[in-house]
Amino acid sequence: MREFSYERAATPAAAAARAAEVPGARFIAGGTNLLDLMKHEIETPVHLIDVNGTGLDSITETEEGGLRIGAMVRNTDLAADARVRRDYGVLTRALVAGASGQLRNKATTAGNLLQRTRCPYFYDTNMPCNKRSPGAGCAAQDPGAVTRGLGVVGTSAACIATHPSDMAVALMVLDATVETVTPEGDTRAIPLAGFYAAPGETPDVETVLGAGEMITAVTLPAPIGGTQMYHKVRDRASYAFALVSVALIVQPDGTGRVALGGVAPRPWRDPAAEALMPRGAGAVMARLLGDATPTEDNAFKIALAERTLAGLLAEAKE
Ligand code: SF4
Repeated sequence: MREFSYERAATPAAAAARAAEVPGARFIAGGTNLLDLMKHEIETPVHLIDVNGTGLDSITETEEGGLRIGAMVRNTDLAADARVRRDYGVLTRALVAGASGQLRNKATTAGNLLQRTRCPYFYDTNMPCNKRSPGAGCAAQDPGAVTRGLGVVGTSAACIATHPSDMAVALMVLDATVETVTPEGDTRAIPLAGFYAAPGETPDVETVLGAGEMITAVTLPAPIGGTQMYHKVRDRASYAFALVSVALIVQPDGTGRVALGGVAPRPWRDPAAEALMPRGAGAVMARLLGDATPTEDNAFKIALAERTLAGLLAEAKE
C-alpha cells in the first residue's frame, strides 16, 4: 500500500470542497472495497477524506411518501429498517444477498453504488485493463480469457465488465434517485437510471459524478406495492457475486418491473421490456437482452436470466 494522508470531514459540502481541492483525494466511509483496491495498488489515492462523520446516517420519510436514505446508512441497517422491509421488500432481499454479514455491517449506501467491478483482470495488475489504466487494452477480450462472470449486454470494445452491486439492481426497479453535493455547495438529484456512464471508450469513467461531487442520499418514491422479489444466481451459496440476478416487482394484474444484475456495466432495465411482462419471461428477455453480445464463456447468462425470471413469475403467481 502506498503512503497517503487522512482527514475527517464534518459536513458533506466541506468534504466535497476538499476533494476538489486536493488532487488524487478519495472519499472513504466503510472502506470495504477501497481498502482492498489500495492494498493491491489498483487505486492509489494520495489523500483520504473520511466522510463517516458528516451526519448522513439516517433514514427519513419524504414529503412525497417515500424514503430518503442517508449515504452513510450501513447495508445491514438499511436491510433491517421496518419501513424498507414492509414497503420495499426487493431492496431488503437484494441487500441480504450481497457480500457477508460483516461486510454489510460496514458497507454504506453510497459505497455500495460506487463499488468497482470484480473483473479478475481489473484486479491483476500484470494484465492490461482499460478501466484501471486507460488505453492499456482489455485482457478480458484476449484469446483464451476467462469471461464467465463478465458482461453480455451494454458492454463496449474497450470493456466488458459488470457492475457488482445487488443493492443497485433493486434500487433500479424502485426508481431511486441519487442526491449529491458539489464542491461549490450545489445539490443535484440524479435518477439512478442515468447515474452510471456507458463504458464506451472510457470505461474508467463509471458515473456521471463530477470531480469532488459527493453522494449525500438515495431517495425512494412512495411505495408501489406488488410482489417484490430478488433472486441471485451465483457459483456458491454465499459471499459471491451474481452470475445473473433478477429484481422483480409484479402487480396483481400481471404488469410489473424487472432489472437484471451480473450481465451489464450497470443494473440493466428497459421499460419497453417490462411492457411485455404479461406475455412471459421469454418475451421480456428477448427485448431486454436482444442486443446482447456474449462471449462463448458467458452466453449461458442469457438462458439463465430467462429461466430465473420465469421461475420468479411463477412463484409470484402462486
Ligand atoms: Fe479491464 Fe474492463 Fe477489460 Fe476487465 S473487462 S480487463 S475491467 S477493461
